[in-house]
Amino acid sequence: MQDQAITLEDIKILGILAQAIVPADGRDDGVAAMHPGAVLAEKMRRGNSSELYVDGMAHVRRLCRERFAGNIASLDENAWAGLLEALRVQCPLFFRQLRADVCAMYLGDAGTWQRIGFPGPSSAGGGHPDFDQQPQSHRDTSQADIGVMIEPSVQAFLASHPKMLIGGQWRDSSDGRRIDAIDPATGQVISSLPAGTVQDARDAIESARRAFRGPWRRMTPYDRGRMLYRLAGIIEHHADELAQLITLDNGKPLWEAKKEVATAVSWTEYYAGWTTKLTGESIPLSLPGQYLNYTVREPLGVVAGITPPNYPLTMPLYKAIPALATGNTLVLKPSEDASLVALRLGQLMLDANFPEGVVNIVTGMGEIVGAELAHHDGVDKITFTGSTEVGRALVRASAGNLKRVSLELGGKSPNIVFADADMEQALRGVFMGIFFCQGEICSAGSRLFLEDSIYEEFVARLGTMAQAVKLGHGLDPETKMGPLVSREQQQRVLDYIRIGKAENAEAISGGCAPEGALKNGCFVEPTVFAKVSNTMRIAQEEIFGPVVCAIPFRDLPDAIAKGNDSSFGLAAGVWTRDIRKAHQVAAALEAGTVWVNCYNAFDNASPWGGFKASGWGREKGPYGLDLFTQVKSVVINYT
Ligand code: NAD
Repeated sequence: MQDQAITLEDIKILGILAQAIVPADGRDDGVAAMHPGAVLAEKMRRGNSSELYVDGMAHVRRLCRERFAGNIASLDENAWAGLLEALRVQCPLFFRQLRADVCAMYLGDAGTWQRIGFPGPSSAGGGHPDFDQQPQSHRDTSQADIGVMIEPSVQAFLASHPKMLIGGQWRDSSDGRRIDAIDPATGQVISSLPAGTVQDARDAIESARRAFRGPWRRMTPYDRGRMLYRLAGIIEHHADELAQLITLDNGKPLWEAKKEVATAVSWTEYYAGWTTKLTGESIPLSLPGQYLNYTVREPLGVVAGITPPNYPLTMPLYKAIPALATGNTLVLKPSEDASLVALRLGQLMLDANFPEGVVNIVTGMGEIVGAELAHHDGVDKITFTGSTEVGRALVRASAGNLKRVSLELGGKSPNIVFADADMEQALRGVFMGIFFCQGEICSAGSRLFLEDSIYEEFVARLGTMAQAVKLGHGLDPETKMGPLVSREQQQRVLDYIRIGKAENAEAISGGCAPEGALKNGCFVEPTVFAKVSNTMRIAQEEIFGPVVCAIPFRDLPDAIAKGNDSSFGLAAGVWTRDIRKAHQVAAALEAGTVWVNCYNAFDNASPWGGFKASGWGREKGPYGLDLFTQVKSVVINYT
């Protein structure tokens, strides 16, 4: 499609509409700096929804003329609400697209996304949290509607039955077998992927080794950085397509998928900037004579990245980008439950001119491809995100050549709410902390500790919010929560719900899979368990789904003791207005990250990793560079 012309007035109007959908408040410094009008105008200029925008803007101008005497800039906030409402009724497709784009854009800002919550059909027509209101309609978008929504480029990719990337070539598995790729919202087969073999894994390792010894070693840090920046630009250019593919591959709603793409872009740019800043030190020695001792950071060699399905785009990038930025080569093994996005990413990497063999992507089963990568002496480092159980297996398997291993594993994170907390803020944070990403997120605040005096009211309100969540296909813009990633994961979560009920916990919302139009998908209703004690299995074992266990506590020492009574130590949340209490709890909790008066506030620069059985090492920020480099010390006697 041809690029559309845009004007300064378009940018101004789109900026005002964005602000009408998500008004700024005191916590939104990041948003204020974002120039949303320019970002949306760029979508209008050349995005997939360009025609929708052009048409919608004509409606906006007409409405302004007819209802508000022609000038959007002179309208007050009440009039903005009226304008949005008119757009919602008269121009619903544009309204939905605009709202989804605005919310996705703002969701990249940690402070804002916690405030705006699930974008949806809110009272003001905008993206404000509305999960404590009953949904207007339970009508589900039909399968035919969903089919129409899929971009032609996504349809073409699915129909191509993609291959694996080994040594710069697109290949079938050595024995020709394939795995069905299933849309978890419908249970239907939408494509397939190669079922990689041990031989395929070995070929990929060999090709990564050749690339590591070849021209890749000689590429300057600046050129490596440019290559990564180029990739970030290409990902951004394909943002709408990738977001749809994420939704079809994993199930998460499109607005969350768009947030994932935005993170993928900023993550790639973040480490692209590091390539030219990997410095060493000079060390003063106390030996007799004259010596110069300096250190350099060197890459490890061939890195194998093994990833889970919950973030099908960013997980592979969390492994690939820092590994490449520091000069390693890579074999990626994405989850068999969601590999389509990784294969599309491989195509985009080739578009960015990644040299042959620098990135290899082998799809297939963990016990075959993943296990071979872990055992093989040609791999220098495993970077893994997944379950604690598989993490342990990788540690055992890596003993042969003592390859480095970093592990981002499971969690059962405590989210602690004191009676003095800002209740509205805490409810919203707790809700998003467990139900974002269908609860399939390692940091899910799945153990909710509530001070005795607020327990009843808080649990009741959380239950009401959970009941109002609209489940549906992720491509339906009205969907707040999608399905779990696979039938197996759905069954696992439902089994835990049964265990909880047998342990006499009370499901005050959810507690089952929905019937009716959604029954073929892998859905589980958002579930709030009351009457839970911290020793129950549902409070101790990771469920990895939309299930929260509400547990009362007496006082601060009781909250800390219960919070730490877990084999996991990934993350924790604390909600209080008392700064002393906040610091005391943050200091005492055994967790890699503690959030105070926020939850899931991630940033590329902020370290991420677990205490106890939640992992080894810290990804993200400068800490992440240590995982992919080794230090060489050079001592020169120049006496
Ligand atoms: P999983 O451990 O079953 O699988 C993860 C990956 O490991 C997949 O690619 C799988 O194919 C592979 N694998 C499986 N068996 C293997 C073996 N024997 N050898 C080598 N590789 C093998 O995890 P999952 O169910 O796909 O993902 C959910 C888990 O991931 C949860 O425990 C969750 O907490 C964790 N997770 C952690 C983080 C974090 O940052 N700490 C982030 C996301 C998910």
